[in-house]
Amino acid sequence: MINERLTSIREKISEAAVKGGYDPGDVKLVAVTKNVSTGVINEAVKTGITDLGENRLQEALPKIAGLPEDINWHFIGYLQTNKVKDVIDNFSLIHSLDRWKLAQALEKRAQQTDTDVAALVQINTSGEETKYGLAPEELEDFLTDIKELKRVKVKGLMSMAPFTEDPEETRPYFRMLRDLKEKTEIPGIELRYLSMGMTNDYHIAVEEGANIVRVGTALFGGRT
Ligand SMILES: *Cc1c(COP(=O)(O)O)cnc(C)c1O
Repeated sequence: MINERLTSIREKISEAAVKGGYDPGDVKLVAVTKNVSTGVINEAVKTGITDLGENRLQEALPKIAGLPEDINWHFIGYLQTNKVKDVIDNFSLIHSLDRWKLAQALEKRAQQTDTDVAALVQINTSGEETKYGLAPEELEDFLTDIKELKRVKVKGLMSMAPFTEDPEETRPYFRMLRDLKEKTEIPGIELRYLSMGMTNDYHIAVEEGANIVRVGTALFGGRT
């Protein structure tokens, strides 16, 4: 079942990439495994999924411990500063860098462990108060500050589109993030990744330049 779903998701990603003028091979699928049991995740891993995403540390840690070591784990939820140690130790990419205080906490811990921390800056493209992330116009100053940090390496941008009945309505928000990526030039920082698009709208996101999509429900079924 997961196998078939995966095949159809990959097809949809490929079609969308071609339609948008992008190379389908450049789009990374992150399987979001929140509320999914380790047994089911293991099946997904056997079908060839290499990248998994979790939004809560407490839920993620036992799963990480119970699954193969070569998985790339993505932290996609709100990150409290007192959790940075475990996140740095267990995740390869943080999608939710959204404030200076968090950048400082990551830097401090990364210096202690002598490791680099890869992160995406979360942007609130819709301006909804319920969403985390920097306002688009705050990005340049934020990155200028981040550049002074030795261990925090910003690799791109992440956003969550507002939920809409018609996925087509999300397109302007994805386009906004792509434009922001393209116009932001800070020497020493390469915004390589655009993490945008979930079950409802990943095809639109890929058409608009997403090269990381975060998909849960389409792969694992509805959550309860
Ligand atoms: C849950 C979640 C997803 C996946 O959502 P689906 O609609 O199930 O695909 C993606 N990104 C974030 C940040 C999430 O919390």
